[in-house]
Amino acid sequence: MRHIAIVGSGPAGYYTAEAAGKQWGEDVRVDVFDSLPVPYGLIRTGVAPDHQSIKKVSVRYEKTALSEEVRFVGNVQVGRDVSIAELQELYDAVILATGAPHDRNLDIPGEDFANIFGSAAFVGWYNGHPQFADLAPDLSGRHAVVIGMGNVALDVVRILSKTEGEFAGSDIVAHALDALHGSEIETVTIVGRRGPHQIMMTPKELGELMHLERASPHVDKNDLPPGADDAILEPGLRKSVTLLRDFAAIPENIHGEKRIAIEFDFFASPKAFKGKDGKVSALEIERTTIEKGRAVGTGEVYEIPADIIVTCIGYRSSPIEGAPFDERAGRFANDDGRILPGLYCVGWAKRGPTGTIGTNRPDGYGVIELVADDIGNGSRNRGRAGFDELAEKRRLDIVTFRDWQKIEQAENAAARDGSPREKFVDIESMIAALR
Ligand code: NAP
Repeated sequence: MRHIAIVGSGPAGYYTAEAAGKQWGEDVRVDVFDSLPVPYGLIRTGVAPDHQSIKKVSVRYEKTALSEEVRFVGNVQVGRDVSIAELQELYDAVILATGAPHDRNLDIPGEDFANIFGSAAFVGWYNGHPQFADLAPDLSGRHAVVIGMGNVALDVVRILSKTEGEFAGSDIVAHALDALHGSEIETVTIVGRRGPHQIMMTPKELGELMHLERASPHVDKNDLPPGADDAILEPGLRKSVTLLRDFAAIPENIHGEKRIAIEFDFFASPKAFKGKDGKVSALEIERTTIEKGRAVGTGEVYEIPADIIVTCIGYRSSPIEGAPFDERAGRFANDDGRILPGLYCVGWAKRGPTGTIGTNRPDGYGVIELVADDIGNGSRNRGRAGFDELAEKRRLDIVTFRDWQKIEQAENAAARDGSPREKFVDIESMIAALR
């Protein structure tokens, strides 16, 4: 028998659990830990609430979670309730699938002004992550600024721009829907330090900006390189750039019909946040030029008004005592998934915050191949029996997968019309729903 602990129940965690089941069948026991009482990580709290089709992948994780070999151990924080060293004593392999839940900082002056948020916090707020449910962003100003030109920036722009009606069928949480309904925003400026050929936005997600009820995307055609230059781009990026060209060709009268202007500000490197009475009021930007693919400052500085700013510039993993951490890269120090003997990482915790949900599948299967090579037939470790004793001694209030299904039922029952669920946004309510 092999005993495996996986820390984190998001895509990386469940693909790894699935791979362990495929690898060893009945000869493995897998415990999937999560600090929250609810599973699925980024599927629940990261993927945009109006992208329900992407969330359907959780059906696959549920199948794994309900298999004989796999167990969900929710409401247990590794590093606080149980240490990595303790898990290593009990399990043949401990695999960190903790994702990258923290925002990278821009490290420019003025970050302490109110109403500046990182995307982890802002996305967590509209998705009901208990850690960010109280964020209370002030949406009463006219100008929003979103920094970064990746898909997270697009999610945030879309959520800031949609009407209440456009959220039909989504699972955006009630507090966010209410706040967005009262929003006074008229411009959303997307600030990118490089140019149209360097965006990280994928075509399907970028194309959604064309179909918003009350917002329309503006691109200055002078920012676009000559059309012939697009030939060198890989097909996905070429499609995205073609969309930017379509945005630049939208006639002024169409823009005029929409309340919100989504402005693309290319070649724009954030220099400082400016504020008034403790709250952000503007973003200072330096114009850039691109040299060998890198943004280089030109010395030309300007300001744009900003009543709320969301930085969408990437994420970092959270260090846990007992696992060496690469501070510069913001993830666990690892050699293709191996951290230390018996300790592994997978997904964003291993490679940083890039790729789609599906990228985690080969990652999960890959790490199980390493574990299989390293542990052979397993050992005399006690696995879940040993953990249960420890949990009992520490009076940990463990949430099982069946418990989660009760929480899920309660969330589904509380859904407003047309929505799949109304999420609980604090841990106490989640626990209360299952007791
Ligand atoms: P991302 O794709 O890496 O984009 C980050 C953006 O931030 C880039 O435009 C980057 O510009 C910019 N940036 C980084 N540091 C900066 C700085 N110091 N100053 C100014 N700009 C800076 O990351 P992401 O948007 O967080 O997305 C993470 C991953 O999740 C991606 O793989 C993404 O595709 C995926 N995702 C997918 C979906 C979807 O498929 N629907 C939705 C959300 C996220 P540079 O390029 O110049 O560094």
